Amino acid sequence: MPRRNSRKHARGTGSGLPRFGSTFQSTRTESGPAGWEDVEFAVRTISAGQSTKVYRCPGCDQEIMPGTAHIVAWPVGYGGGSDDRRHWHRNCWSKRAQRTITRRWG
Ligand SMILES: [Zn+2]
Repeated sequence: MPRRNSRKHARGTGSGLPRFGSTFQSTRTESGPAGWEDVEFAVRTISAGQSTKVYRCPGCDQEIMPGTAHIVAWPVGYGGGSDDRRHWHRNCWSKRAQRTITRRWG
């Protein structure tokens, strides 16, 4: 009896879909940097308030200091694991087509 109950419960979680909608709304898809033009990148804007760590921007190889609004981007096909994400200065991301990124994915 308990086993049947848990199975029914697991199936019921499918009704929780709208919960994830707001998360994905803030993510857009853009073309990748030089050498990655054919790859779709998921792009998210990180506000100054959300930025609490130092990141290294692959566009200029300089640090992004905490409290700096910036971009986080990753190849859509890579699934967006934290290891695949790169944090970019907004300026560097906007000029990415003219840059060769300093660190490659994978
Ligand atoms: Zn940069």
